[in-house]
Amino acid sequence: MKEGSTEAPTRHPIDWQSPDFYDLDKLDVELRRVFDICHGCRRCFNLCDSFPRLFDLVDASPTGELDEVKSEDFAPVIEACTLCDMCYMTKCPYVPPHEFNLDFPHLMLRYRSAEAKHEGHYPFVPGQLGQTDRNGMLAAPIAPLANWGSARGNRLTRPVLEKLAGIDARVELPKFYGKTFTMRAKAQDKLGEAAPKEAPAKGRKAALFATCFVNYNNPQVGEAARKVLAHNGVETTVAYPGCCGMPFLEQGNLAKVAEQAERVSREMCELIDKGYDIITLTASCGLMFKFEWPLILPDNADVKKLAQATYDIDEYVVDIAKKEGLAPGLKPVEGGVTAHLACHARAQNMGPKSAEMMKLIPETKVDVVERCSGHGGTFGVMKETFEVAMRVGKPAARNVAKTGNKYVTSDCPLAGKHLAQEIETLEEAQVPKVQHPIEIMARAWGLIE
Ligand code: SF4
Ligand code: SF4
Ligand code: SF4
Repeated sequence: MKEGSTEAPTRHPIDWQSPDFYDLDKLDVELRRVFDICHGCRRCFNLCDSFPRLFDLVDASPTGELDEVKSEDFAPVIEACTLCDMCYMTKCPYVPPHEFNLDFPHLMLRYRSAEAKHEGHYPFVPGQLGQTDRNGMLAAPIAPLANWGSARGNRLTRPVLEKLAGIDARVELPKFYGKTFTMRAKAQDKLGEAAPKEAPAKGRKAALFATCFVNYNNPQVGEAARKVLAHNGVETTVAYPGCCGMPFLEQGNLAKVAEQAERVSREMCELIDKGYDIITLTASCGLMFKFEWPLILPDNADVKKLAQATYDIDEYVVDIAKKEGLAPGLKPVEGGVTAHLACHARAQNMGPKSAEMMKLIPETKVDVVERCSGHGGTFGVMKETFEVAMRVGKPAARNVAKTGNKYVTSDCPLAGKHLAQEIETLEEAQVPKVQHPIEIMARAWGLIE
């Protein structure tokens, strides 16, 4: 299944090294051109909060047209864009190669970059939250204390965090672990847990990009992925040269993303040269490797090579199933699973791979929900946008709750957490257990409890 008009849209490189990219007059001309097309089209009215904000501005103007809307009123439209890419990938008929050449999310990105350049700085708190490796390294050795301080019910610390840093006290924040995934991977190697078994895919080699989130906040996902791959005969290694830079992309800090891309791709290419396929464990990292980095550094050979060698973990397991066949022994997962298709997994244009993979489990009910969870990185965390994030995600939460399944999976760990928090607010809804799809597979093979 491919999304877009009739074919997957093509996307132009981001012209972030050109002075025109930051020219406020030229940016305004482009914003007005695109917003006017959107006003005439309005297909995206229910995707997020950006479009309703834009259409409300136009509808409230004296003429009901964009020409009466002041450019200084555009900021809330840009603020509400989480760069989920859904308008570009699933709705817009005017994306390239159409002559309108419309790329709404990348225009929002350009606005943020230009705004920061002219103000001389990027937003402070999102910038600090975006230092995922630094934060993870600081928090891991004191994980119990860090988790106590960040716990949702902590009436001592969370109001202070809200006041000083603007992080909404109601948000469930990710937990930290003293033993990161890279540490656990070494232990797995010692115990022989990652040794490839005799299975049809024997001979494959895969390097798992640990991702900051799995490394510091959800190491069980990495362990489950290695167990599943070993069970299927795949030799694995774990690599983590650093975060992919998605939080910096959100803020429009393209120079920082490029710096990460150069460094990480150089190291990952050494593994590709040794015959490893590259596997990403969260949707956003896969999107960065495959699509965003090549648009930011189109001439970088390492970035290109990495994009071609990268698979999302679910995509990789489905590929094994199609080419060599999976290892036997999958058992039904009691209680059913709802697969939430995260926006950044959908934006990879690979089809609903998590659902496809879990449907390989016999006699297991798998339902699919593909509406946005509303999280959008720091958008779902900051006080000024948390309510909107909850509102945007409500339809997805309702759809998940309606299935009545025991588990909900998402390739985006923050989306899973956010959905669970939204379901808590629904009347008489049971909150399902949040899992990564690969954990469901590991459970079905009896590799984890
Ligand atoms: S990228 Fe997502 S959040 Fe941004 S405007 Fe498009 S649909 Fe809305
Ligand atoms: S992004 Fe495209 S599909 Fe969406 S409202 Fe604008 S023109 Fe229409
Ligand atoms: S996209 Fe991946 S590496 Fe980047 S910040 Fe998110 S989890 Fe970390």
